[in-house]
Amino acid sequence: MHVELHPRFQHDPTATEASELISACVHCGFCLATCPTYLDSGDERDSPRGRIYLVKQLLEEGDAGTATRRHLDRCLTCRSCETTCPSGMQYGSLVDIGRGMIETAAPRPWAERALRSVLRNVFSRPALFRGLLRCGQWLRPLLPAFLAARIPPRQAPGAAPSGRHPRRMLVLEGCVQGAATPATNAAAARVLDRLGISLAPARRGACCGAVNYHLGAHTQGLDNMRRNIDAWWPQVEAGAEAIVSCATGCASMIADYGKLLADDPDYAAKAARIAALHRDIGEVIVAEGAHKLAIEPGASRIAMHIPCSQQHALGQGELVVSLFRAAGFDLASTADPHLCCGSAGTYSILQRERSDRFRARKLEALTVDRPDIIATANIGCQLHLGECSEVPVRHWIELLDEAIAAGEEQLN
Ligand code: SF4
Ligand code: SF4
Repeated sequence: MHVELHPRFQHDPTATEASELISACVHCGFCLATCPTYLDSGDERDSPRGRIYLVKQLLEEGDAGTATRRHLDRCLTCRSCETTCPSGMQYGSLVDIGRGMIETAAPRPWAERALRSVLRNVFSRPALFRGLLRCGQWLRPLLPAFLAARIPPRQAPGAAPSGRHPRRMLVLEGCVQGAATPATNAAAARVLDRLGISLAPARRGACCGAVNYHLGAHTQGLDNMRRNIDAWWPQVEAGAEAIVSCATGCASMIADYGKLLADDPDYAAKAARIAALHRDIGEVIVAEGAHKLAIEPGASRIAMHIPCSQQHALGQGELVVSLFRAAGFDLASTADPHLCCGSAGTYSILQRERSDRFRARKLEALTVDRPDIIATANIGCQLHLGECSEVPVRHWIELLDEAIAAGEEQLN
C-alpha cells in the first residue's frame, strides 16, 4: 500500500515511519479472519486492514475525525493480525503511532481525557496502585458483588530463597502484579533457586511504559522507559545476567525498548542492551533445563491460556505448553487459542462491553475440556478472566513451583 503524505507530514519522522509500515500491507485481507474485533462487529473498520486504511487516510488528508479514533480505540492491540499476516506487517507499531496522532487530530471530550489520565496515573504508579488495592481489599466485604469481584483477595507470597547463588538475575515487580499477586515472583525465585540462580528485585524505576504508550501518551511512555533504564543500569553493570519478567504484557514492552529509543542518543545503546538482556521466566527455565527439576505434576487438569503478548508479540506461543507437556502435566484441550481474552491493558475498563464479550467467549474456549485450573502468563489476563471464571485462574509458574515441591517431597 503506497501512502502520499499530506504536506503537513512531509518532514515528520513519525508519519514517515507509519507510511513505511503501511507499505508492507498488500491488502489481502487474511488478517480479518483472526481479528477479534472484526469477528465481533463485522465492520471492516474494526479489522486490521480497515484500521490500516484509516491511518493511511489520516496521513494523506492531514486530519481525521472521531470515527477514526473510535475504530482505533476498539483495537485490542492483541497483534493476532501480525501472526496471521503473510506480508510481515508490523501492525502493533502502526496502531501505536496512529493512536498518538489521533490524540491531536481528533481531541477527546474532557471526560474521556480525564478518565484516561486517571488510568495512566493509577496503573503506572506502583505505590499508588498498591495503596488503592489495599483499600479495596480492606473494604471488599462491604462492596457490592460486581465490584468486589474486580478486587483480587490479598495474597501471601510464601517463603523467599536466601539469594545464595553467585549467578544472579533481576526480576521486575510489575505495577499490578507486584501488588495483586506477589506469589508469582516468589514462585519464580524458588524455581530459579533450584536451578542455581538467585533472583533479585530490579530497582524500582517506573511502569514498563506499556500503559502510557498504548494509550497514545508516547512522551510519558518513553519517559517511563528511560527511568527504568536509569534504575536498572547499575545492577546490569554489576553483573546481572538477565532481566526477568513474569508478566508477558510487560515483557513484550521491554522487548521493544531498543526499537522505541533507537533515536535517543543518550539511551539508544542502553535500551538495546536492556532489551537484549530481557527474558520471560519461561525462556529462562527452558534454557536452564526443566528436566533438572524434580516435578510431580499431580492430577489436576490444566487449561493453558496463552496471552496475546506471549504468542503474538513475543512469538512464544508453544513455550510453556511444551514445558508443561514434557513435565507430564495433564493439559486440557482448548479452542481458538489465538483469540484475545479482552483484558488488553486498560481495554477492559475503557471498552467494557466488548471486553466482557471477548472474556465470555474465551472462558468458553478454555473450559471445553473441563479443566480444574486455567494457567496463564500475564497478570492482566489472570485478573480479567479470574473475575468471572468458575475455574481458578493462576500463573503457571506457581503451579510449577508447587509441582516441584511435591516432587521433592516424594524424593525425601
Ligand atoms: S494480512 Fe497483512 S498484508 Fe494482508 S491485509 Fe492484513 S495486514 Fe495487510
Ligand atoms: S491487534 Fe488484534 S484487535 Fe487490533 S486489529 Fe490486530 S487482530 Fe484486530
